Amino acid sequence: MRRRPFVFVISGPSGVGKSTFVRPLLERFPELHFSVSATTRRRRSHERDGREYHFLEQADFRQRQKAGEFLEFAQVHGSLYGTLRSEVEGALGAGRGVLLDIDVQGGIEIKRQLPDSVLVFLLPPSMQVLEQRLRQRGTESEEKVARRLANAPAEIRQLSKYDFVVVNDVLERTREDLLAIYRSEVLRRERLRGDADGNAFVDEYLKAPAARSSGS
Ligand code: 5GP
Repeated sequence: MRRRPFVFVISGPSGVGKSTFVRPLLERFPELHFSVSATTRRRRSHERDGREYHFLEQADFRQRQKAGEFLEFAQVHGSLYGTLRSEVEGALGAGRGVLLDIDVQGGIEIKRQLPDSVLVFLLPPSMQVLEQRLRQRGTESEEKVARRLANAPAEIRQLSKYDFVVVNDVLERTREDLLAIYRSEVLRRERLRGDADGNAFVDEYLKAPAARSSGS
């Protein structure tokens, strides 16, 4: 069955573990495209340009912004981050869903522009656990950890704008929850190709003898 692809956004405070769930989602749903954002933040040692992010100089980022290359962009923890229009529109146009790991400002903007997007907020079990995880990760200086922690309450206050809330306590369960949310959203009747109430689909279904499956 042919369904309309959509944008699946995961947001949550820095250190909650969003990026851990990118790979399981892509493995389970090969049609899903991970949108690689652009950023002006420094590359971490394990990161590769073009894989986690497109790492840009500030001037380059601003130039692309002016040229309208970003679907949304935001300043997050002192650096610029932006979702490239080409990453999202290219995949949707090819019938693929798009996975975004972006902050709450970005998530809200995506929903404004693409109302059938799905926003999932990943919440740490507590602020204390968030702090421990950020420090254990060891990717940021003490000053940057403090900045990320200080920004967390304001991000969490945007939770009411999100469609789903998942507490990342037990990794395996969080993974299952995210896979279940994505799959349920794929199966929404509204996403059937045809008119919005599904009548075009039903007419075609009743006429054509071929068997159907829900799709991958
Ligand atoms: P990090 O520097 O830890 O990779 O990411 C910092 C924050 O920026 C995270 O909350 C991440 O989700 C967010 N982020 C990454 N890419 C984008 C983007 O393209 N747009 C927005 N608005 N936020 C992003």
